[in-house]
Amino acid sequence: MGLTGLQIFKLLPKTNCGECDLPTCMAFAMALAQGKTSLDMCPYVSDEAKEQLESAAAPPIKKVTVGTGEFTRAIGDETEIFRHDKRFFNETILAIEVKDTDDVDAKCENFNDLKFERIGMEFVVDAVAVVNDSGDADKFKSAVETAVNKTERCLVLMSEDVDAMAKALEVAADRKPLIYAATNDNYEKMVELAKEKGCPLAVRGNGLMDTAELVDKVVAAGHKDLVIDPGSREMSQTLADLSQIRRAALRRVRTFGYPSMAVTTKEDPMEENSEATVYMSNYAQLIVMKTDEKAALVPLVSWRLNLYTDPQKPIAVEPGLYEVGEVNPDSPVYVTTNFSLTYFIVEGEVEGSKIPSYIISVDTDGISVLTAWADNKFSGDIIAKYIKDLGLEEKVNHKKIVIPGGVAVISGKLEDESGWEVIVGPREASGIPKFAREKFGK
Ligand code: SF4
Repeated sequence: MGLTGLQIFKLLPKTNCGECDLPTCMAFAMALAQGKTSLDMCPYVSDEAKEQLESAAAPPIKKVTVGTGEFTRAIGDETEIFRHDKRFFNETILAIEVKDTDDVDAKCENFNDLKFERIGMEFVVDAVAVVNDSGDADKFKSAVETAVNKTERCLVLMSEDVDAMAKALEVAADRKPLIYAATNDNYEKMVELAKEKGCPLAVRGNGLMDTAELVDKVVAAGHKDLVIDPGSREMSQTLADLSQIRRAALRRVRTFGYPSMAVTTKEDPMEENSEATVYMSNYAQLIVMKTDEKAALVPLVSWRLNLYTDPQKPIAVEPGLYEVGEVNPDSPVYVTTNFSLTYFIVEGEVEGSKIPSYIISVDTDGISVLTAWADNKFSGDIIAKYIKDLGLEEKVNHKKIVIPGGVAVISGKLEDESGWEVIVGPREASGIPKFAREKFGK
């Protein structure tokens, strides 16, 4: 467990000098315990006290970084068991397996195409996991080299053969790949390699207790950028192990204070998707998968988006005026909220109407139409202000605005405040194409 304010206070100089911007050492201790200040704000802490305090202040799960450049990914640094208590921070890395016996060129080409667009955001699959399936060190090195040249995404190098790993790192170390894996048989040499090349290292044990002992040995050998694979390949056992690792880490059991990972086993892509979803939901911060089928990966990427969104902050689009198609002065004007899901559903339906249109996205703190209306964030006067501030009168040659059918009640106020004619649209966005054709079609 982290230290309490009182425990921290006992380690401070107790001079109440105020140089930490707090009036007393006790106030500083309390603030430090709550994570509201940092230890370096006090210039008088002794080295011995600093060591104790830094260890107590360290995050329960170490942050580990894989990759370089645009596709650098950080995992770990999580603080919660339940997402709704605060949030999860660093998204699970999805890695797709490419065996050195495969057509590595073609696999990497396909991998680079694994991009998905959802609610206006682009998502990619993060990592290629090159597997030394052949058992041949040169073949492994060649496959890794191809992956290095073909993709800029993160790399996971999967071989327990230290010589093969050393050869692969000759061509890949600059990309800071995850080395997979240190085991009971090879950990000393794998640790040396990981330390020499400055790469993160996966530790794969054989069950939870064995993994714990192995992690301690690896840490004692001097490497701490670790990812834990408890080694089980049976789904319920993996789920139990991942959960226990997270719980132990948050109770400050240092052995388990690293991000954990899982490797899927199902052959059918959709079953594999379900397996990966279970692992992701239960704290796997890196998952190695076999399928590279978009249809199987889209739901997983969507689930990851949901899981790692701040539950207190809905995903929102920028408030403002959006153009759908080649708008002109006759184009209809719709209004909706800036809740992403609502906005993009409306945008899709307006696009489906094939009538170029404007959409006003009102800042409702990312909440949906009826909720925003109930919270007085989607009212006649607010929308009237948008019409004025966005200069709509200069953009269109009419003064008509379409509001969602669910909030017809704001029509009067909006007409009074804006001087525009309010047209009550359909209650559901799916009704927009028919509505638009009837109202605005030529
Ligand atoms: S700077 Fe250090 S010694 Fe001074 S009040 Fe703050 S905690 Fe106490």
